[in-house]
Amino acid sequence: MRISILGTGSSGNSIYIEDDNNKILIDAGFSGKKLKEKLESIDRKIEEVEALFISHEHSDHILSAGVLARKYKIPIYICKESYEYCACKLGKIPTELINFIEEDNLFGNLKIKAIDVSHDAIRTLAFKIENEKDKKIGIATDVGKTNNLLKYNFNDVNLLVLESNYDFNMLMNCSYPQDLKMRVKSNRGHLANEDSGKFISEIYHDNLSLVYLAHISNDSNCPKLAYKTVMNELVKKGIANLKVEAIPQGIQTKLYEIR
Ligand SMILES: [Zn+2]
Ligand SMILES: [Zn+2]
Repeated sequence: MRISILGTGSSGNSIYIEDDNNKILIDAGFSGKKLKEKLESIDRKIEEVEALFISHEHSDHILSAGVLARKYKIPIYICKESYEYCACKLGKIPTELINFIEEDNLFGNLKIKAIDVSHDAIRTLAFKIENEKDKKIGIATDVGKTNNLLKYNFNDVNLLVLESNYDFNMLMNCSYPQDLKMRVKSNRGHLANEDSGKFISEIYHDNLSLVYLAHISNDSNCPKLAYKTVMNELVKKGIANLKVEAIPQGIQTKLYEIR
């Protein structure tokens, strides 16, 4: 199974995942044109994408979902609550392209499990994607507060994409209005760097080979600090050999193969 983070952060989120038989996107928070270019930079065509899974209806995750369905006929997988809430934002989409996400979803050879998290959309999902070779990816870019269900589901993933959104001191001192600061640090907002580090140390196991730190804020965090804080938490738990990469906004990762 291979993965490329096409981009992550408040300016847009989209993750490409493929195995030998299937090609899917998780979220489409960039314009259709931009997504096409991002896919071309890893030698993939947007026309090859077979499904778009949507985590929640915030615009940094659904910007071009409607376009992908209308222009490229890509089926959309979205939970019923999110669809009903954002149908007008998505624009007119042929009903045969709308599929409602269940707890367990099968797409070709990929098993895609949806896990509820507390982030403040109408409903927000994290995903666990598993292929027939037993390789597993966990994706949680907008969490709020980690929960036992997430911990349980992610405790055997080989690769994890987890938000590490803010540094508490930087958040408190940044230019955000007070209510936005409160929202970000609430259980329905985002994860602080420490929270991400603690969660990673809780689910850590020998077969976890790579963690991408995602949705890093440009205003209340920076990739270097996110990395350093997460690594500190890991070292405290005696974890010294886990590969962690903090992804700056505007950066796309290479296609990485999980072996
Ligand atoms: Zn969100
Ligand atoms: Zn987001």
